Amino acid sequence: MHTTVLNLARKLINIPSISPNDFGCQEILIQRLQSYGFFIERMNFNDTSNFWAWRGSGKTITFLGHTDVVPAGNILDWNHPPFTSTVEHGFLFGRGAVDMKGSIAAMTVAVEKFVQKNPNHNGRISFLITSDEESTGKNGTKRVISLLKNRKEIIDYCLIGEPTSEKVLGDCIKNGRRGSLSIDLTIYGKQGHTAYPELAVNPIHISIPFLTELSTISFDDGNDFFKPTTLQILKTSSGKKYVTNMIPGELNISLNVRFSYLSSEKKIINTIDMLLKKYFIKYSIRWICHARPFFCSPDRFYNVVADSIYRQTNVTTILKTNGGTSDGRFMTDIANEIVECGLLNSTIHQINECVSVSDLFTLQNIYNSVLDTLLL
Ligand SMILES: [Zn+2]
Repeated sequence: MHTTVLNLARKLINIPSISPNDFGCQEILIQRLQSYGFFIERMNFNDTSNFWAWRGSGKTITFLGHTDVVPAGNILDWNHPPFTSTVEHGFLFGRGAVDMKGSIAAMTVAVEKFVQKNPNHNGRISFLITSDEESTGKNGTKRVISLLKNRKEIIDYCLIGEPTSEKVLGDCIKNGRRGSLSIDLTIYGKQGHTAYPELAVNPIHISIPFLTELSTISFDDGNDFFKPTTLQILKTSSGKKYVTNMIPGELNISLNVRFSYLSSEKKIINTIDMLLKKYFIKYSIRWICHARPFFCSPDRFYNVVADSIYRQTNVTTILKTNGGTSDGRFMTDIANEIVECGLLNSTIHQINECVSVSDLFTLQNIYNSVLDTLLL
């Protein structure tokens, strides 16, 4: 049994499924799940492959995952080829080893093992696997969930295999994520000759006190689950290259805000508006919300996952909501409880992404023990 999870992870890593391509990863999973009595619905949209698979009926646990990966970066920088899996010194190397082909292998084998032992289990086990989590997110989980919602599917427990562990496997799981809001701001001055500044208004000069205050602005104080909302200034651009005698007419500023449900999009924009007005700045502002925040109060499923981690690792897990966005934000529409629990995130999206082979087995056992607790 031990080699199975490793073999499956290796097979998936060997397919260069750079987002939103799947290139056959999902067919491997589908074949296996079908042979364990799963019904499969392929739900492909444009360039994205997705499938929804289920077995049994009643209370539903859904494993959510993605077969796509981010690009390798400079292949020459890798110690092992990114799309030919390599095991060395107890570690499995390759793009997607952690994020998240390793945990997809662990959930698949955990479910197979469980079904083999308990062919007439209680409840329903399901999988939702997509191939565009690492790109736009437009044709993946979001669209599948809207279809499932239309036919009134309900997920009681959703387990997302994203890499949430920090120092040791299982030390951290997630029950929410912050949202991401991008803002483009244009500050207007008055163009003029640098030798006659009294006839111009320099938009950079008038922005400095505003930007200073903006960089330390507080939108909320956070709470037990979320750190305070944060804002970063990403880019400022103005003027023309090689022009040395002109005060520019405007300054363009890009911002990104990572926010929790304690600050709405509207509240954030209003706060920035107020600050601009305080400094009598002429401006225009545009924004786009890439992801709304989500949060799920820890309840029964959280306890089951935390207990399973403790049983398999002796680690007492903690709940966090940090990190980037995840597809969990789409699940809130039909899922009652959502927990993200996966491998160590220290090498994700990096050169030489790798996972400890023994962690793969342990994660499989954690997932298996979650099934044992919920569906026996
Ligand atoms: Zn991921």
